[in-house]
Amino acid sequence: MKLFKKILNLLFPRKIKCIFCGRDITNFDEKPYCSDCEKEGFFNNSEFRCKCCDTPLPVNEGYCYHCKTSHKDFNKATAPFIYTGNIKKIVINFKSNNAKYLAEPMGKLMAERLKHEDFNFDIILPVPLSSKSLKKRDYNQSELLANEISKIFDKPLRTDILCKIKETHHQKELGFSDRQNNLRDAFNINSPKDIKGKKILLVDDIMTTGATANQCTKILKKYCDEVYVVTFARRDINNREKQLFSLKNLLKSTKKKKQELH
Ligand SMILES: [Zn+2]
Ligand SMILES: [Zn+2]
Repeated sequence: MKLFKKILNLLFPRKIKCIFCGRDITNFDEKPYCSDCEKEGFFNNSEFRCKCCDTPLPVNEGYCYHCKTSHKDFNKATAPFIYTGNIKKIVINFKSNNAKYLAEPMGKLMAERLKHEDFNFDIILPVPLSSKSLKKRDYNQSELLANEISKIFDKPLRTDILCKIKETHHQKELGFSDRQNNLRDAFNINSPKDIKGKKILLVDDIMTTGATANQCTKILKKYCDEVYVVTFARRDINNREKQLFSLKNLLKSTKKKKQELH
């Protein structure tokens, strides 16, 4: 079937628009972006990435500074893109400008990432919005992405299990622990028996400090076994962390030089 689809694409190429720059492209290989955008630095594919939250790392350190210093309750998180440049634009467009058509290509790229990372899960849950936010926005962007992933993996999507029962303040200026406090008691679980002993895939559009995913995981893990997280994009490593890594490297190389001199 896949081969048939490929041949059909070659014979009758569909004209689509690059999801990042909007340019017309022919989808010979079914990638929803153009070759110029493919060279952009917004793919989260650097050689070293945090084993827990997928943050790109300048050196092979295993875990990012953030995961080393504040424990994450989820088993592992992944994101195919870094939240920067055109990625920011399409995420904002998707969630605030009614660009629901982006759910399909975005969900597909997230599913590819999940296959590549070999994530294993039984049920898919989107990070919920409060009823007030849902009314205002009309749709939950994470649910649209989760729905695409559910179709591709043929795994059940449940939107009735995890609910957001408290309206929270904007988190933009807050760090991880303040965000955790802001989200305390914000989520609730319905039908806990349905997730008992299961592996859950939690879906969101972006991950910043990981506080939202972590707070959802805390309540889910009262009943389920494992929680994996996928977002379309994630925050890049911040300057403070970069400085810490380069300082650490400097110390390492000075130590080595000293040993060589002795
Ligand atoms: Zn493009
Ligand atoms: Zn990390």
